[in-house]
Amino acid sequence: MAGGGMAGVCAALAAARHGAKVVLAQDRSRLGGNASSEVKMHVVGADCSGGRPGWREGGLIEELRLDDAAHNPQRSWELWDLLLYDKLKREPNVTLLLDSPLFAAETRDDAIQRVLVRCDKTEHLYRIRAPLYIDCTGDSRLALEAGAEQRWGREAQSEFNESLARAAADRQTLGSSLLFTARDYGRPVPFTPPPWARKVTKAQLQFRSVRSWEYGYWWIEWGGQLDTIRDNERIRFELLAIVLGVWDYIKNSGDKPDSAHWGMDWVGMIPGKRESRRVVGDHLLTQHDLEGKTPAFADAVAMGGWPLDDHPPSGFDQPEERPARQIQTAAPYNIPLRSLYSRNIRNLLMAGRNISASHVAFTSTRVMATCAVVGQAAGTAAVHAFFQGMLPDVATFTGQGRGQIREANLVKLPLFISMFRDVLSVQRIKDTYFHLVDARFGIGKGKFTALSGDAIAMESDVMTLRGFGSVDFDLNCDLFLSLPSFGLPQIPLISPFLRRIIDNIAAFHVTGPLDEPQISYVLMRDLQMLFRSEPK
Ligand SMILES: Cc1cc2nc3c(=O)[nH]c(=O)nc-3n(C[C@H](O)[C@H](O)[C@H](O)COP(=O)(O)OP(=O)(O)OC[C@H]3O[C@@H](n4cnc5c(N)ncnc54)[C@H](O)[C@@H]3O)c2cc1C
Repeated sequence: MAGGGMAGVCAALAAARHGAKVVLAQDRSRLGGNASSEVKMHVVGADCSGGRPGWREGGLIEELRLDDAAHNPQRSWELWDLLLYDKLKREPNVTLLLDSPLFAAETRDDAIQRVLVRCDKTEHLYRIRAPLYIDCTGDSRLALEAGAEQRWGREAQSEFNESLARAAADRQTLGSSLLFTARDYGRPVPFTPPPWARKVTKAQLQFRSVRSWEYGYWWIEWGGQLDTIRDNERIRFELLAIVLGVWDYIKNSGDKPDSAHWGMDWVGMIPGKRESRRVVGDHLLTQHDLEGKTPAFADAVAMGGWPLDDHPPSGFDQPEERPARQIQTAAPYNIPLRSLYSRNIRNLLMAGRNISASHVAFTSTRVMATCAVVGQAAGTAAVHAFFQGMLPDVATFTGQGRGQIREANLVKLPLFISMFRDVLSVQRIKDTYFHLVDARFGIGKGKFTALSGDAIAMESDVMTLRGFGSVDFDLNCDLFLSLPSFGLPQIPLISPFLRRIIDNIAAFHVTGPLDEPQISYVLMRDLQMLFRSEPK
């Protein structure tokens, strides 16, 4: 997983707690993304900050919020960062790489083969291979590197017939923001702005209130008319110039004499980014979905409910416009799993503000409690796919509930391979029929790979499955099956249950009817006698 904002943290926790090994690469030293002390945004969600009472996201975000309430009653932003760090550190399945941006991905046959992550502080280059990847970077960096289909900007009304869309499409987005904090020092605190601070006038603030001073203004927003990724440096400068200009107005214009004892004690330096790329999935959420005007999703896995909350792209430089237009949906809405995986890169999911949505729908799904439940759903879905031999591009996942994945059907794979009962159980999926499937067994890190000619042969209800694979001696290895005739990459054949006994199994042979497979296997210790060399 790349990106340790609220989506990434929840995706990592969910996947790890379901038994997957997770590597989470986060390019900064703190977790939480815009909710971290670096940006300082509050997590909001479907209850619309009290505007829709009674609704509350459950699951991991609730756990995090409750822990924060109990252990950080002083509401320190840095302790919130630490709480997120602690949560991930307590998970033995999580490898956390901080200060480590993901910067490249290698893709073959529309699947990511490996990604590259770099930590310049420790002079490490990580080459990470995984069966599934989740892009939680907000900016969709992993999706970009992998060649996943993406969108940028605002769609034309004609494209999805959205009443809130603009007449013509453009490449503008919501802008970025810098916050500040200030407090009353009980004595006069002078402020002299630098020469590059903006000169802010009362007219510019007609729709932007400066009544309270302790916690900045989200409407100090700018840069949506530019490229919020590539122009980030310029946007940071302009935002700082506006922050200091607004503070200069508060302190020195004479309009706010009560501010004399107030001084800034923190100014953000990492522009909080609202919008950039969105990855296109099998379903693209639109205004209609959020307004409940489309049929219910059979694969609903998360929920949202924040208003459709659009802003003028140039933000502060459009003073004649209100800084936001918020339109509450009649009810909370469901988000389908098909919006959480790429439609052209087969082993890529996404979670957070970059899910598959139109600009209009994004203006609601982007808030962090929604990103968190989406992250939990994506992490959970990935593990279900992983352990049940599926891929996330299966369009007929069925499920419902908030942040939960239901048992899923498998349409592209003809075999349902589960390791949960006995050692190995294989069932034919109802209504699928095929004669022969070539299969190869391999080992991710082991030294022994499959013999050629190993195959799954299945005729009618009788099947024969032969597999040979070695087991990594450090027990961290997973056994994979690949079905080249279906163009599928590796499918894991390991469950938490099997993981415990895998050190005793090295090769297996399954024959017999599907509902009663006969399994024979060669014990690891016997194989060790044959292959004594260390694993490479
Ligand atoms: C000023 C402002 C006010 C907002 N107000 C609210 C609000 O009040 N409440 C609310 O809930 N939401 C609010 N939002 C929206 C919300 O903050 C974002 O939509 C949300 O943070 C998106 O979550 P995310 O996890 O997808 O991405 P992010 O929070 O952006 O997290 C992504 C993380 O990935 C990391 N990353 C990026 N690229 C890479 C890479 N290549 N490799 C590794 N890591 C990478 C980033 O450093 C970041 O930490 C606001 C946004 C802004 C900017």
